[in-house]
Amino acid sequence: MIKDLQLRVSLKEEEITNILLIKASEKLAISREDISGIKVLRKSIDARKPKIFFNYKVAVYINEPVPETSEYVFEYKDVSKAKPVHIIGFGPAGMYAALRCIELGFKPIVLERGKNVQDRRRDLKAINQDHFVNEDSNYCFGEGGAGTYSDGKLYTRSLKRGDVRRIFENLVFHGATDQILVDAHPHIGTNKLPKVVSNIRETILKYGGEIHFESRVTDFIIKNNAIQGIQLQNGKELTANRVILATGHSARDIYYLLHKKEIALQAKSFAMGVRVEHPQHIIDAIQYHCDGNRNELLPAAAYSLVHQVNNRGVYSFCMCPGGFIVPAATANGEVVVNGMSPSKRNNEFANSGIVVEINVDKDLPKYERFGVLKGLEYQKDFEKLAFTAGGRSQTAPAQRLTDFVEGNLSSSLNPTSYQPGLNAAPLHSLFPKLIGSRLRKGFKAFGTKMKGFYTAEANIIGVESRTSSPVNIPRKENLEHPEITGLFPCGEGGGYAGGIVSAAMDGERCAEAATSNL
Ligand code: FAD
Repeated sequence: MIKDLQLRVSLKEEEITNILLIKASEKLAISREDISGIKVLRKSIDARKPKIFFNYKVAVYINEPVPETSEYVFEYKDVSKAKPVHIIGFGPAGMYAALRCIELGFKPIVLERGKNVQDRRRDLKAINQDHFVNEDSNYCFGEGGAGTYSDGKLYTRSLKRGDVRRIFENLVFHGATDQILVDAHPHIGTNKLPKVVSNIRETILKYGGEIHFESRVTDFIIKNNAIQGIQLQNGKELTANRVILATGHSARDIYYLLHKKEIALQAKSFAMGVRVEHPQHIIDAIQYHCDGNRNELLPAAAYSLVHQVNNRGVYSFCMCPGGFIVPAATANGEVVVNGMSPSKRNNEFANSGIVVEINVDKDLPKYERFGVLKGLEYQKDFEKLAFTAGGRSQTAPAQRLTDFVEGNLSSSLNPTSYQPGLNAAPLHSLFPKLIGSRLRKGFKAFGTKMKGFYTAEANIIGVESRTSSPVNIPRKENLEHPEITGLFPCGEGGGYAGGIVSAAMDGERCAEAATSNL
């Protein structure tokens, strides 16, 4: 017999060996010997009150063996001689599209502008140390896409769009910790992600797929409104009649190319703002009701904040406890920040994007001349502003949080995890009012919601501009572009995902769609 139970374990009890077994036998009023095993289905922390609890959802196996954890079997076939599907971009959407193609018996041919995970590291070092951005290999471009040197948080709000469990199990199959199957807020960490990504590459190659790095796609060959081929930056042309376009939200050249070819695009609302960085102990003190020395059983504390200011949402985005702020620009002449954290989340800083919703239909009258690309041009200008205010390198413009809100230039800044360094700048007066004034009101409100959050010990660092795509590449119900037969816009770049998991799920869906009548 199997019984599902909810168990509540205090911090003190968590230290006791076999606490789940003890609690389960008490709750079910059966002897411990009758319990053959306990499988944890979900684990979360309840820190709403000073007495902190872990909430467990468990399956208790009574006089019967505990089965293997996986619900899915991934069966890949040799596809070396099968019909091809071309996939542009090897981020989460492209990787999962390729894996799904193999499961379905089709050969994925992946074209990726960046380098493999190992070689990519050198280019990340160059951004951090020499302030040089390789425009094909950086924090957004290269094997694994923007998801590789990221936080690897696996939360998604797209539960209705696909099977999240299947994505998680596939990550575990490729080397991620199985803890992600039970944690309420699963997370892999930037130190572990490259191995998972290279294991996925190995699977694709082993079963006959192809992956071509340093192969930027520069044009599409289209005849009679159907895709016929792909052109690469080295002049090579490939014949292709099924193309999954998974180039992510930073591939501006792809949006420009589609626009130039008069292929339908739509402007999409998005969000922009800053990263805020606190010492982690301040966030721990607030969230765990302690003096900042959190119990060692507790992970670095996180938060999630949202407030409405003048009809627009101001909210926290991609919060990285125990993490780093990284330079995520994809071109020289712009500054873009993002966040990541290692698996142990043991860095001394907590950072999060704090962003303002931008409604492209109402908020950008001065950009109307750019038509469907108005959001993209506004985003570019915001990033150029950060570049100039930061000192025309990857040094980022920054201000103490309280100075930003009160309108003072910071005479000094707090220590930071951002390697290229910070430059004190009057962001309160430089930012467009649409973003700056809402951020200032939002921060004040967050200080009321989380006592201690609004502090001179935090910096704001600019700019967080790549939360999601400012452009949508439309598609029909069968996921094909409405005007171009054989072209399947996919993942975050198409406007169909907002993170690693949703991009992966969309990749699987596009693979199914692209192969359905092949
Ligand atoms: P991408 O991951 O952007 O992949 C697109 C790929 O296409 C890239 O590899 C790019 O090189 C390639 N490409 C682009 N143009 C071309 C071309 N012309 N020819 C060939 N190839 C091309 N999300 C989360 O869910 N959790 C997190 O913790 C998290 N942390 C993040 C931290 C950082 C630093 C960054 C930058 C992002 C983070 N994200 C996180 C966002 C997440 O990485 C993206 O949502 C996700 O990677 C989108 O997947 P995608 O496959 O659609 O696009």
